[in-house]
Amino acid sequence: MSPRNDYHMTAAEFRKFGREVVDWIADYYEWVESGSVLSQVEPGDIRAMLPNDPPAVGEDFEDIFSDIDRIVMPGITHWQSPNFFAYFPSNTSFPSILGEMMAAGLGVQGMVWKTSPAATELETHVLDWMAKLLGLPGRFLSSSAGGGVIQDTASSAVVCAMLAARERVTNGQSNRHGVDQSATGALVAYTSNQSHSSVEKAARIVGIGDMNIRLIDVDDGFAMRVESLENAIKQDLAAGRIPFFVCATMGTTSSLAMDPLVEIGNLCGNLGGDIWLHVDAAMAGAATVCEEFRSINEGLEKVDSYCFNPHKWLFTNFDCNCFYVADRQALTGALGIQREYLRTAEYESGAAIDYRDWQIPLGRRFRSLKLWFVLRHYGAEGLAHHIREHVELAKQFEQWVDDHSDFDLIVPRSLNTVCFCHRLGDSITERILESVNSTGRMYVSHTKLADRYTIRMVVGGRDTKLRHVEQAWSLITQTAEEMDSE
Ligand code: PLP
Repeated sequence: MSPRNDYHMTAAEFRKFGREVVDWIADYYEWVESGSVLSQVEPGDIRAMLPNDPPAVGEDFEDIFSDIDRIVMPGITHWQSPNFFAYFPSNTSFPSILGEMMAAGLGVQGMVWKTSPAATELETHVLDWMAKLLGLPGRFLSSSAGGGVIQDTASSAVVCAMLAARERVTNGQSNRHGVDQSATGALVAYTSNQSHSSVEKAARIVGIGDMNIRLIDVDDGFAMRVESLENAIKQDLAAGRIPFFVCATMGTTSSLAMDPLVEIGNLCGNLGGDIWLHVDAAMAGAATVCEEFRSINEGLEKVDSYCFNPHKWLFTNFDCNCFYVADRQALTGALGIQREYLRTAEYESGAAIDYRDWQIPLGRRFRSLKLWFVLRHYGAEGLAHHIREHVELAKQFEQWVDDHSDFDLIVPRSLNTVCFCHRLGDSITERILESVNSTGRMYVSHTKLADRYTIRMVVGGRDTKLRHVEQAWSLITQTAEEMDSE
């Protein structure tokens, strides 16, 4: 058979299969609750179903599509199940999925304003909306010296923040000369020992090194001790080192603890020097759509950068991180590299933003589209309604734990996160977790807090209601009773 001269899927086929895919997704949300939350496959099971060699000739979409159910679905852990309570949520919603589809459909790459003005301008505008929605300070608005940008993840945001901080503290010399820690004196970064691993990873990427990041100890509520931070910074100053970066976490990964941001900001300001204060509010930031949770934002007027992930708790599918800086020139000074092939008159006249200078990669997806759809579909009212609902469910769960004689709360609930363990110790707590997860009826994950094996129950699923939380608690207590009587 001679080769065809066009192998593309036709528009008619795309219409047909596109509808089938949308139906498939809608059906998924209808049945996902009844499936096993955690995938039950063993390592290698999925690959064993795939042919060794790539297809030599194209296949029918029907065949490709049917392999989703046969090959892919057994290996899916259902993050969108209402019985998913592990890690932090990565919830999504139909408007977000539609926005993602449109972004894929348009297929634009918005590295500079000119390569799709709407991609840049919608992003600027949606991030201004988001700042207003969350009650963030005016210094993060595009009308100020600062502004917002969408990054893929909080991990990228902290790398960008640290690079900008490094460049600022070395007066633009670290880009030129590299980080010669012996010549400049060691640059030192600080964060609590409860902060996310991405902060330490950023210190490696930015050339600061593990030995120059201080993991500050925490209080009984797992929030950074400001006194310890102060001591650490003063010791480094006395030794001739250069404190340049502090990352405060508003909502730590293990227990959603809030660092004392106002005091940390005051300390950084009072110590003189040039310390960049970054705030990682990856999950908890979403809660500030509700006025009653805005205390999380107190102190933001003094920070240099802030980020949170709509892809965690704000119904926007992965990936989507909102990253704000108070001084955009510090960021673009660190990341902007000019090349003739990227030059445009609009950028050079100062009339347009080129977001390529605000991030690590050159290319960028049209992520603001899904966020725009979500904000317009739900409005501030709808988003706040669902956040409040999750917090209320977590409050109910906390009450059950507190009332039960076999379980201890490790720390009081923070927003939608409840950390608890069995009174008889780590081994039984761990066995309970493994046992409930193995039923497929729910999924919780663990951490270690105060040296105790801890179950984390995080309520944030799009469709999670009281009955799911009730079912999870009754499974946990029944399992504990069975183990008690063994
Ligand atoms: N910061 C905190 C507090 C987190 O909990 C997480 C992930 O759970 C991250 C950062 C990393 O998020 P991302 O996957 O967006 O890099």
